[in-house]
Amino acid sequence: MERISACTLDCPDGCSTIVTTDEHGNHSIKGNPAHPITQGYTCKKGKHALARINAPDRITTPLMRSGSTFVPVSWDKALTTIVDKISTLRNTPDRMLHVRGYGFHGVLADTSRYLFGQLGASGTRGALCDNAIMESCILDFGALDQNSHTELLNADCIVNWGRDVLRSSIHTATLLKDARNKGCKIVSISPASPEEGMRIHVSDLHIQIRPGTDRHLAAAVIRRLANEGIPDNILNRTSNSSTFVRFIKTLDERHLLDACGVSSTELSTLVEIYGKENFAVSSIIGWGLQRYIYGGENVRYINALCMLSGNVGQKGAGSYGGVSTGRNFDSSWRSGSKTSRKLLTPKLADEILDANDIEFLWCDGTNAINQTPEATKMTQAFSTIDMVVVVDAFMNDTAKRADIILPCALIYEREDVLGSYFHNYIQYSAKVFEPKGEARADYDIARDLANRLSIPFPEIDNILAQALDTKEVTNLTKNPLEKIRQQGFLPTDRPAVAFKNLQFGHPDGKYCLPESALHDEPEIDTDFPLSLLSLINKDYEHSQIPAEEQQEQLKAYVHPATLKQYRIEPDGQAHIVSSIGKLLVQAVADTSVHQEAIIVRRGGWMMFNRCANTIVEAHVTDIGENAAYYSQRVRLEVSE
Ligand code: SF4
Repeated sequence: MERISACTLDCPDGCSTIVTTDEHGNHSIKGNPAHPITQGYTCKKGKHALARINAPDRITTPLMRSGSTFVPVSWDKALTTIVDKISTLRNTPDRMLHVRGYGFHGVLADTSRYLFGQLGASGTRGALCDNAIMESCILDFGALDQNSHTELLNADCIVNWGRDVLRSSIHTATLLKDARNKGCKIVSISPASPEEGMRIHVSDLHIQIRPGTDRHLAAAVIRRLANEGIPDNILNRTSNSSTFVRFIKTLDERHLLDACGVSSTELSTLVEIYGKENFAVSSIIGWGLQRYIYGGENVRYINALCMLSGNVGQKGAGSYGGVSTGRNFDSSWRSGSKTSRKLLTPKLADEILDANDIEFLWCDGTNAINQTPEATKMTQAFSTIDMVVVVDAFMNDTAKRADIILPCALIYEREDVLGSYFHNYIQYSAKVFEPKGEARADYDIARDLANRLSIPFPEIDNILAQALDTKEVTNLTKNPLEKIRQQGFLPTDRPAVAFKNLQFGHPDGKYCLPESALHDEPEIDTDFPLSLLSLINKDYEHSQIPAEEQQEQLKAYVHPATLKQYRIEPDGQAHIVSSIGKLLVQAVADTSVHQEAIIVRRGGWMMFNRCANTIVEAHVTDIGENAAYYSQRVRLEVSE
C-alpha cells in the first residue's frame, strides 16, 4: 500500500513523499516521482523519519518531574497540572512564555501560537535562522519574492554565495547539476569548499572568502561596475542610486579585497560575470552569510549587486534567498493575538533572566536550550521558571530540564499542509500511522488545553480551508483542501520571474539600495582570532540526532596551517575556547577550510559534550534580530 505524504522538516525542499507498506508490514519512504521538485528522491534526513517513529528511546507517554527523574503520568494529570498553573496567571499572562521553533513546518504546527496568543502569553521576536535575510530582502525589494526555481535552468551563470546545497537542499543541488549540464557556469563563494569530500560536485569555480565578509566582495564588484557606468534604466528604478553610487565610488578596492581576502583576479572574474551584457546571472544567497553581526549588510550588498548589474526582474537571473515557507497561505485564522511582550530569541537566556518574572514556559518544535546561543546560560534561565512544559519526543537537552514533557506525534503521525522556501508548490503531509503510544499531534494537544481553559479553538478543516484560501492557491485549484488531500501537492499561481519590469513592493515601486555605509568586521581580538562556524549537518536536521550517533567526540575541521600554528597534531585532541567556555574536539586537518575558521557540524547535544552553542555568545545581526552565531571568535588549545 502506498500513501502520499510530505516531509515537514525544517528544510527548503518541502518534499512530497510516498510511504509504502509491504505485505509483511514493513514501511519505507521515497520521494514522490509525480512531484516536480522531489522527482522520486529525498535525502537521508527525511528517510530517518521511520527510525525516529520507532526509536526505542522515544517518549510516548506524558512525563512529570519527580526530583531528578521523570515519572509517567496520564494526559489528564499532566494537562490538569498545566491548567492549574496557567489559571493562576490569567491576569498576568505575560508571566507565561511561549517558545516555538521550526523543528517541523506546517499550518497546524502553528496552533500552539494561536493558543498562547489568545492567552496573551509573552512570545519571542527575532529568530535563530533566517530573519536577517528576510528583513534585508524586504528592505531592498519591498517584498519577499524570487524567480521560480526553474529559472535557474535559464541562467548563463549561477553565483552561489555560500549556500551548502549538498547538505541543505539536495534538490537545489540537482538543479545546479542540470544547469551545469546545459552549459551554465557555477561559481561558489564561501570560507570552505562545501564540496570537499562529497560525492557530487556542482561548482566550476570556488572562491574562498574570509568568514562573514561577502559584503566587501559584492561592494568591490559593484564599484567596478559603477566606474564602468550603470545604465540609467536600472538606476532610475532605484530610490537612492545617486547617493549609493557616489558612496561606492569612494571605496578603496585594495581595502575591500583585503577585508574579504579575495584576489584581484577573482574579483575580475566576478566583474566579468556580472558585467556581461545579455548574460543572465542567478545569485543564490546562503543562510550562513547572514548569521554574522553584519549579516544583513552582507545580504543587502549582494542584492544590490544583482540589481545594479541588471540581474533582477529577468529570466534566468535574480537573487534567491528571501522567501518564506508560509507565503502561499492565509494566516489570519490565528489573528487576534493578545501577546504584548516579545523576548529577543538570540538572547533568550538573558531576556528570561532579566525579565525575572516568567513563571511558566511552554516550549514546542524546538530543542531550545541546545539551539540557542549561550546554551549553558539557557539552562540557568530555565531553572528560574516555576513550570517548564516541553513538547517533544526525545529526552534531549531541553526536555531533560522540563517539569512536564508532553509526547508529540512525529512526521507521518499527524496531518498538515506546508509550503517551501525553495519552490512554489504546497504539500500535504498525511497522517499515515497512528501516533506511537500516547503521543498526540500538536493540534490535539493545543486543542485539549484550549478546551480546558474555555478558549474557543478552530476545527482542523476550518484552519486548513482558510489557510488555503489565497489567490495563489485558488486561482489554479478549486476546492484546494480536498484536492491537496488527494494529490499530495498543489501548484501556486506565481510568476516565473519576480519583480518583472523592475516593479518592487515599496510604496514608490522602486528598489531601495543600502544606506551609504559598509562596516568592517569587528576588530580581531588576538586572544580569539578564529571564526567558529557551526554549520549544517548532512545526515540529520538540527539537533534531531540519535543518541547512538553522538558517542564519538565532536570533530572540528581546521586548516593544517592553523593546526600547526597552535601546535596541534592532525586528529589530536584540542579545546575550542571562546570567552564563555571551551569545547573538547578532535581536530581534523582540512585544506578546504579557511585558515581563519574552525568548522564544526551543529546539532550535537550538551549531554554528549557536542553542543557548539555552549561556547557561542548571544550576538545579534544588524538587521532582523537574528542570531549571529558565526561572529563567534575562538582560539584552539592543545588538550593535555
Ligand atoms: S529534509 Fe528536505 S530534502 Fe530531505 S526529505 Fe525532508 S524536505 Fe526532502
